[in-house]
Amino acid sequence: MKNPKKTKGQLIVLSGPSGVGKSTVISELLSERSDIYFSVSFTTRGPRVGEADGVNYFFVSREQFEGMIERNELLEYAEYVHNYYGTSLRLIQEKLEQGIDVLLDIEVQGAAKVRSRCPEAVLIFIVPPSFEELSRRLHGRATDQEEVIQGRLEKAREEYKEIPRYDYLVVNDKVSDAASEIIAILAAEDCRTRNRMHLVEGI
Ligand code: 5GP
Repeated sequence: MKNPKKTKGQLIVLSGPSGVGKSTVISELLSERSDIYFSVSFTTRGPRVGEADGVNYFFVSREQFEGMIERNELLEYAEYVHNYYGTSLRLIQEKLEQGIDVLLDIEVQGAAKVRSRCPEAVLIFIVPPSFEELSRRLHGRATDQEEVIQGRLEKAREEYKEIPRYDYLVVNDKVSDAASEIIAILAAEDCRTRNRMHLVEGI
C-alpha cells in the first residue's frame, strides 16, 4: 500500500464527536495500514480503566505539560473538558522525515493549529449517520449520566461548526466502510503531484 519512494510522510488529522466510534475506525484503519504511525498524545487527564501509559496516552501532570508548552515541545495542544491534550513535535517530525505517515486523533482546536502550522496535512472529520444516531450511541454505550450525555451532544454541535475547515467528511455508519473511505482518501493524497514529483525528476 505504501509508496516506497515517498520522501516525506503524510500528516493525517482525524477528528469527530465523542461517541462517533473514532477509536474503532482507527483500529480498523491501522489493522489495514500497519505502516501508519499512530501518534500517542500527552494528556493531564487520568487513565481510564484499560488504558496504559505510552499506549493510549502519555499521562503527565499539569506542571509537566506546562513545561512542554514553555519549551515549545508540542506541535499543538488544547484544553478540552478541563484537561490538556497535546502532540509531541519531535516524535512526529522524526516519523514524517522517515517517510512514514502519521495519524493524529485530535479535537477541533488542535486540528486548526495543525492546519496553520502544517498546511499540507490532510484533515478528516468523522460523523455518525445522523445526530439522532449519535444520541442513541451515547445513551447506549455506558453508564454516563444524562447530564454528561447532554454535555457531549452540545459539544458535538459546537464541533460540527468546524467541519468546513476539514478536507474530507467520512460517515461512520459501518466501521469497515468508514475505514475503507479513509484508506481511499490517503491513496489519493499519495498521488498528489507535489507528493510524486520525485518520480519524474531528471526527465
Ligand atoms: P478522551 O479524553 O476521550 O481520550 O479525548 C478527548 C478529546 O481529546 C478527543 O476529541 C480526542 O480526539 C482529543 N485529543 C486526544 N489527544 C489530543 C491531542 O494531542 N491534541 C488535541 N488537541 N486533542 C487531543
